[in-house]
Amino acid sequence: MVKFVYLSCYVCKDPLVDPVALSCGYTVCRDCVDIIPQKVFHCPVPDCNQPSHLFGRSLHPDTTVFAISRLITNTAHPSSELSSHLTQKSSALSTIMECMHCHDPFSDPITTHCGHTFCRLCALFLKATKNHCSACKLPLPRYTSLVNQPSNRMISQLSKKLFQDTQRRTSRDLGSSNRHKSVVLYVSQAIILPHQRFRLPVMPEDRSRFQTCLLKSSRYDNVCIGMVYCGTKLSLMGTLVKILAVEHRSDGILLVDLAGLDRFQVLDHSPYIKEDTDTSLLATINILPEIHLSEDCVGFQTITDTELSSQSSLTEDETNEESSLSVDVVEIGRPLWAADIMPQQDDTFNSIDLPDDETESMTITIRDFIHRLASPPVTGCKASTEGLFGPTWFTNIQILHGDMPPLSRSAALCWWVSFVLPILNKDKLRLLKTLPLKSRLALVLSWIDRLEQQWTFRSDSLPVSTKAM
Ligand SMILES: [Zn+2]
Ligand SMILES: [Zn+2]
Ligand SMILES: [Zn+2]
Ligand SMILES: [Zn+2]
Repeated sequence: MVKFVYLSCYVCKDPLVDPVALSCGYTVCRDCVDIIPQKVFHCPVPDCNQPSHLFGRSLHPDTTVFAISRLITNTAHPSSELSSHLTQKSSALSTIMECMHCHDPFSDPITTHCGHTFCRLCALFLKATKNHCSACKLPLPRYTSLVNQPSNRMISQLSKKLFQDTQRRTSRDLGSSNRHKSVVLYVSQAIILPHQRFRLPVMPEDRSRFQTCLLKSSRYDNVCIGMVYCGTKLSLMGTLVKILAVEHRSDGILLVDLAGLDRFQVLDHSPYIKEDTDTSLLATINILPEIHLSEDCVGFQTITDTELSSQSSLTEDETNEESSLSVDVVEIGRPLWAADIMPQQDDTFNSIDLPDDETESMTITIRDFIHRLASPPVTGCKASTEGLFGPTWFTNIQILHGDMPPLSRSAALCWWVSFVLPILNKDKLRLLKTLPLKSRLALVLSWIDRLEQQWTFRSDSLPVSTKAM
């Protein structure tokens, strides 16, 4: 049962007066917060464990909590229980408890310093597209702040009580139809791989295409983009990426930092004309979380485009439910919020790669090779290769691509090595299309073989001569 206690201040415990939401997720009376400019802020909430807090130029009222308080005080004696008023006032209350962006009941609500509340994913979408609050036009905080900001406790608790049934229903619906997704893909001129971090500059004329490709994903807790490479022809394997940071430059260019998540197969897609940059590529995709891939297969198992299309016709015929999700039901240009991106098998998604003896020894060989490149140069190196590898190189690539994954994460190591070794686009594409882990390790080892043949190693240390690959 919802009680009036939810609308009491987290500091003074009395009914809220002039409520303001702090970035730690607590809503308190304005007079219960003491902000002295140029002084370190000490959060007045006893339970708060956030090391720092975000503020705008001034404290704005928590508009949602303010509206609920007013609804209650206008209708009844404040000491009575909230639940009875909630049922009587349900339509007024559900309007208040609705996200201004998606018009659904709040899901993981966060309140920005302007006092307006959005679902976290809606706030992230706003940040990635407009950079300001859609209600008051005040600038939004940094993308990472929005990702990490604790949810508004009072609104979350109320929302859970009020819309419990609705939320349960929604999650069941998603669960039954999350196998294949219809999405708008972003066609890229570069091959993007899982775990890869990169920066995408979005020109002003390209922003609407970019916006159309944004996908809200509660599974990845972020706004994602399905990226697919088009060289001479469109690749039917792509990578789902998440946004890490967004910078809105004054010249209208958007700089988006992204990180690769999982691969996906393109099962079906709308016609794509490479020359026409305005084309939206509408596709049905099947997400392939790393750990579901069969590891028994030795040798190269590369999915060819023909194999992919024959698979797609098979799966599409399997059930009616999946065909209802096929390409033609989605209009181009509409944000695809309905198609919440979820991996194929949710439950095992977070498990780790379990290597056997063979994958382990392959992984060790790969790591040893990188360690050899990272060791200090021996005397007598040719000047042309002296600066190419060694400890500085190793430090720099780890700053750029993250630390080298440990032996227990063979799959991640394959991707990582493909970012740091001088390999060709066609090698990257082959890695992207290779499913079994063992085959991917073998592919990486074949690159290493090739490099070792091209470089003459002296005293098991640094390559002393290089040729073009
Ligand atoms: Zn706090
Ligand atoms: Zn108070
Ligand atoms: Zn929303
Ligand atoms: Zn606002």
